[in-house]
Amino acid sequence: MTNISFETVIEVTYLVASALFILSLKWMSSPTTARRGIFAGEIGMLLAICGTLLHRGIVDYRTIAIALALGTIIGIPLGRVAMTAVPQRTALSHAFGALCVTLVGTTEYYINTPGAKSFAMAVLCVEVILGGLTITGSLMAAGKLQEILPQRPLTYKGQNLVNFALLGVAVVIAIILVMNPAHKELFPIMVAIAVAFGVLLVIPIGGADMPTVISLLNSYAGLSAAAMGFVVGNKLLIIAGALDGSSGMILSIVMSKAMNRSFTNVLFGAFGQVQPAAAAGQETRTTRSATADEAAAILAAANKVVIVPGYGMAVAQAQHKVRELYDALTKRGVDVKFAIHPVAGRMPGHMNVLLAEADIPYDRLADMEDINGDFPQTDVALVIGANDVTNPAAREDKGSPIYGMPILDVDKARTVMVIKRSMSPGFAGIDNPLYYMDRTLMLFGDAKGFVGNIVRELTGGGH
Ligand code: NAP
Repeated sequence: MTNISFETVIEVTYLVASALFILSLKWMSSPTTARRGIFAGEIGMLLAICGTLLHRGIVDYRTIAIALALGTIIGIPLGRVAMTAVPQRTALSHAFGALCVTLVGTTEYYINTPGAKSFAMAVLCVEVILGGLTITGSLMAAGKLQEILPQRPLTYKGQNLVNFALLGVAVVIAIILVMNPAHKELFPIMVAIAVAFGVLLVIPIGGADMPTVISLLNSYAGLSAAAMGFVVGNKLLIIAGALDGSSGMILSIVMSKAMNRSFTNVLFGAFGQVQPAAAAGQETRTTRSATADEAAAILAAANKVVIVPGYGMAVAQAQHKVRELYDALTKRGVDVKFAIHPVAGRMPGHMNVLLAEADIPYDRLADMEDINGDFPQTDVALVIGANDVTNPAAREDKGSPIYGMPILDVDKARTVMVIKRSMSPGFAGIDNPLYYMDRTLMLFGDAKGFVGNIVRELTGGGH
């Protein structure tokens, strides 16, 4: 094969890969086509790697083979983590991607200085600044979510000023380098500042906002990869990076909206601290609790039941028991639906994935805006390990940190039953007035065990 035909093969491979990436994103936006979307993305990435390996510039494949082997060894266990650990796993992937981008950018700089053109130098600086801050920002986010680092926001006076000043210094160095790329001594300082900025950026952000931050860092990693595409003259990287950058940004905006938080509020708001009111409220107010057989009797007598799953269902891996409950109730003629809050659980689509895994029909799942009007006609709202997404304080208490966040109006149902292990708050760390209502029954226990007991009552003992 001649060199020209090699290049044609690479171009065509990249074109097909780009189309697959776009289709992948499109297909992943619906549960019915999501699997196809993942498959398209995987094939696209395989084509991208194969196309790149055909490049004439590669003189020795041995180091590439070693890198591939190392990547595979690290990648396989990373792919096997529990679903609830996916946000921190994703953050680690961003850190690796950003490390790669920063190393490539640094190599490009030292190979091409002082011959680098202004545009190339400017893009290269964007690449390494975004890459550098994404490495440490993502590692910090992963550490906070995994609870290796403290989840609470660490703030001090003048913090934003210090952060912006530091970023400003990096930008000034970038401008100097664009004007005169030969200032080799400045380049490592700029990278070091970006790396330090990543740590400082995430320190003041609480654990509850980490998934949004990870999505934002995803966007930065994508944009830095797009910049790298310009630097190394690779169109596929520009396309894939731009897709990654824009989809990450859109996702962050969607998540912020679902929590009724502005972007600036997420980045500078120091949300996620445990409110002292949570503990104080519990002492003075009383709750009513029930056993599994009582709960089963109430459910069996209902016409319409709405199940609200949350983070607790995910931790307990209760989705298969929930499927059994759905089967047992529908067999008795009860109309059962599932209400899905956009930020229930710990990542977007978390509940959809778990319920799909348990083969619960998609047409039984309803989004928040579609189901909220149904709650007043609902006999039983059964909340399974969800807390913040059902907290009426978001609607009523102007002083609440989650005031304004759209919630599932479960408190409007005729009876509310809540499965959770204790009176502990959810991720936002605040008390839930729902638990003290007259119409609420607390079902204390692990989600999997408790739902299992209800199913046993419904299928064995209860009528
Ligand atoms: P949540 O408010 O965190 O509450 C989960 C509840 O599950 C806890 O109150 C806990 O109470 C209970 N639980 C834990 N383990 C359990 C088990 N084994 N069995 C039974 N119950 C268990 O969850 P959520 O209502 O799903 O709300 C999600 C939160 O995450 C929101 O604050 C949201 O803003 C935030 N968030 C989500 C996303 C996203 O993309 N999904 C992104 C950013 C932030 P006990 O300890 O008493 O059992």
